[in-house]
Amino acid sequence: MIKGSCHCGAVAFSVRQLSGPIVHCHCATCRKTHSAPFATTARVDRADFAWTKGEDTLRHYESSPGKTRHFCGNCGAHLMAERQGQAHVILRLGVLDTDPGARPSLHIWTSNDVGWLDYQADAPAWPEGEAPSS
Ligand SMILES: [Zn+2]
Ligand SMILES: [Zn+2]
Repeated sequence: MIKGSCHCGAVAFSVRQLSGPIVHCHCATCRKTHSAPFATTARVDRADFAWTKGEDTLRHYESSPGKTRHFCGNCGAHLMAERQGQAHVILRLGVLDTDPGARPSLHIWTSNDVGWLDYQADAPAWPEGEAPSS
């Protein structure tokens, strides 16, 4: 079981398993909402994701039509995002307390990179969303 929680500890969740690759998302929306150059994410089937603590402390923000980002209403840590009607949610791996097992395999939306970010991509990088085959 993979476990995660926010910084203040008010909200926690558990995940049975990831359902997609671990991806570093460099899109401008992730950069702004996480206040980080990129956000590390992975898909999880809805049936494999469960809030285990503090669900009533959560707040959410609709960052684009139909896409909702959930974060702790106390400390502000982003935990998960979802799109209505999709069978999966999008986990934010920075809040994990246990090792997810897999390792990051892709950088996406690198066309949104900020000029001051000096890093060497440790995995394939795509200028926009995931490659059609992935
Ligand atoms: Zn919190
Ligand atoms: Zn993003």
